[in-house]
Amino acid sequence: MNYLRKELYDLIKSDDYIFDWIQASSLDGLWYWDLERMEEEWMNPKFWTTLGYDPAEMPHKAAAWQDIIFPEDLAIATTNLQKHIADPTHPYDQVVRYRHKNGSIVWIRCRGLAIRDQKGKAIRVLGAHTDITPEKRKEQLLTETNRAARIGAWEIDLVNDAIYWSEVTKEIHEVPYSFVPDLATAINFYKEGESRTIISQCIEEVIAKGKAFDVELQLLTAAKKELWVRVIGQAEFYGGVCKRIFGTFQDIEKRKLAEIQLQKERKFLQKLIDSLPVNVYVKNLASRKILVNKQELAFLGAKELAEVLKDDNYYPPDITKITLEEDRSVFATGQPIINKETLTIKNDGTKTWFLISKIPLFNEEGKIDSLLGISYDITKYKEAEEMLRKYSILETKTKEMEQFAYIVSHDLREPLTSLQGYITLLIEEFSAHIPEDAKYILDFSIETINRMDALVHELLSHSRLSQVKELAKLDCYKILQEVLVDLSASILKNEVEFEVGKLPTILAYPVKIKQLFQNLISNAIKFRKKNVAPVIFITSKKVDKGWQFQVKDNGIGIPEGEKERIFQIFQRLNKEDYEGTGIGLANCKKIVELHNGGIWVTSKLGEGSTFYFTILTEEI
Ligand code: ADP
Repeated sequence: MNYLRKELYDLIKSDDYIFDWIQASSLDGLWYWDLERMEEEWMNPKFWTTLGYDPAEMPHKAAAWQDIIFPEDLAIATTNLQKHIADPTHPYDQVVRYRHKNGSIVWIRCRGLAIRDQKGKAIRVLGAHTDITPEKRKEQLLTETNRAARIGAWEIDLVNDAIYWSEVTKEIHEVPYSFVPDLATAINFYKEGESRTIISQCIEEVIAKGKAFDVELQLLTAAKKELWVRVIGQAEFYGGVCKRIFGTFQDIEKRKLAEIQLQKERKFLQKLIDSLPVNVYVKNLASRKILVNKQELAFLGAKELAEVLKDDNYYPPDITKITLEEDRSVFATGQPIINKETLTIKNDGTKTWFLISKIPLFNEEGKIDSLLGISYDITKYKEAEEMLRKYSILETKTKEMEQFAYIVSHDLREPLTSLQGYITLLIEEFSAHIPEDAKYILDFSIETINRMDALVHELLSHSRLSQVKELAKLDCYKILQEVLVDLSASILKNEVEFEVGKLPTILAYPVKIKQLFQNLISNAIKFRKKNVAPVIFITSKKVDKGWQFQVKDNGIGIPEGEKERIFQIFQRLNKEDYEGTGIGLANCKKIVELHNGGIWVTSKLGEGSTFYFTILTEEI
C-alpha cells in the first residue's frame, strides 16, 4: 500500500476531525441507517443544512427525511434499496427530490452501500447525498426552452448501435417517453418519397464522408399527423471511422405552413399583377424597382426581376432625372401622382406614351417605404389622336379645294358657253367674209373650247363626288347594261367584244357605280391597240366584307412606273395620241373610297391592263 494512503487511513481512524472534514467538504449529506431498527438513522449536519433545516432541531429518525422527500421518488428509492439488499451488484443510486424548508425543490443524487454481517445479511446502509439542484435547474430550463422552441436532440451511437431521442424529439414524433427507436423505424417516420430519400442520403453521407446536413423534411408522426421538421446533423469521427452522429430536430410546421402560405400569396399576387394590362412595379426608397409585372419586364426587355435588380439603367440621364424627381416628391410629400401623361424614351430610342400613376406605400408603422407605379401605355391613342388632328386639317383642306373647284368650274362654264355661242355666231353670220385660213383658226378655237368645256364639266362632277346621297341595293349587271347602252356608239365603232362573268347585287351609290364602270370601260376602249379589236372582260369575286371587280382589256397597257400615278387627278400618259382630261381615274378612286374600297391596276405594256376595284359596304 502506498505510504501516504496508509498514513491518511490511520489519520482518519485516529482523528475524527479529519473524517468530519472530508465528509463535509466532499458531500452534501451523509447518512447511516440501521436496517434492524428501521426508524433509527443518523444524518450528518450537512444533510440538513443542504435541505434548509437546522441540524440541531432534526431528530436522528428515518421519518424526518421521509416526510420531506417526494413520495414517488421515495417509492423508487425503496425499490432500489430492496434490490441492492438482495443483490450487492445492483447499485443503490438515484436522483430524488426533497422539498427545501423554503418550499423549493432540492435535487439530490442519493447513493448507498449496504453493510452486511458475517452471514452476508444487510444490517446497515451507509449513504451519501450530492446536491445536483443547479445542474437540474439548468437542464430543466434547457428542456423547457427546447420544448417551447420545439427543438429536440438526437444521437446515433454507431459503436453500440443505439439511438437516443430527447424528450422533445419524442414529443414531436408523438411517441411515449419510453419509446426506444432504432435506425430503420426512425427513418420510416419520414414521409415516403422525397423526404425519406433525402434523410437516408444525409445519414449515409454523414457516416461515410462526415458531411454535415441541415434539411427541412416532412414527417408522419406516430399519430399519423403530417409535420414539417428541420433536421440538423453532424458526425464525430475517430481514427477515420464515424463513431457517432448527432444533431437537433425541430418542429417547424408553423413556420413552414406560414412560409408556404406566403409563397402561395406571393404567387397569386404576381399572377394578379401579371394579368393586368398595364405596367406595374414597386420601387424602394432608393428608386430601385424591387417588383415588376410581366408587362413591365417585357417593356424593359428583361427576362426576370434579377436582371432589373442588377442593372436598371434603361433610360437616358434627362429622363432618369425627371423620374427621380417624381419619386422623391411622392416619398417626401406622400401625395400620389395620378394619370400623368408622360413620354418615355428608352436608351435604345423607343418612345412610349404612358399614363403614369405613382402611389406611396406605407409600412406597418405608417411610414412610406416604397411606391407602387402603374403605367398605362397610351401610345396608340396618342398616335390616333395625332392622325385625327392631321386628318381633320386634311379634310378641311379637301373641302376647301372642292369648294374652290366647284365655284371655278361652275363659274367658268358660263363665259365658256358665251364664247362658244359668239364664235359659232361669227362663223354662221359672217362665213362669207372670213378668209379660209381664219376659218380654220376659228374651227380650232371651237374645238379647244369644247375640250375646255368637257374638262370643266368633269371637274365639276369630281368636286360634287363628296356630296353623294344614299346607299341603295343595286344589281351590277343591270348597271353594266345601262353603261353599255350609253357607250353603244363607241362600242359599235370600235367593234368591241365583251365577256361578262358573274356580277353581284351590292349596297352602293348607284350613279357613282355607273360612273365607275363607264370610266373604266371607256378607258379600255379608248386605250385600244390599233388594228386589234378590243376585248373587254368584266367579272367579280366575293371578298371579306364585300366584292372585288375586274375590268380587263387587251389594250396598250401601262408602263411599270406609272401604275400609281394614273389615279391622281390630271395625270395622263399618251397625251399626244389620245384625248382626255386626266380626271377619270381620279374619279374612280374617289368613288371606290366612298365605298370603303380600293383601286389598282396590273398591266403589261403592249398586252393590256386589268383594273381591280373593291366595294366593301356589306357591314355599313
Ligand atoms: P384620261 O383617260 O382622261 O387621260 P384617266 O384618269 O381616265 O384620264 O386616265 C389616266 C391615264 O391612265 C390615261 O391618260 C392613260 O394614259 C392611262 N390609262 C387609263 N386607262 C387605261 C387603259 N385601260 N389602258 C392603258 N392606259 C390607261
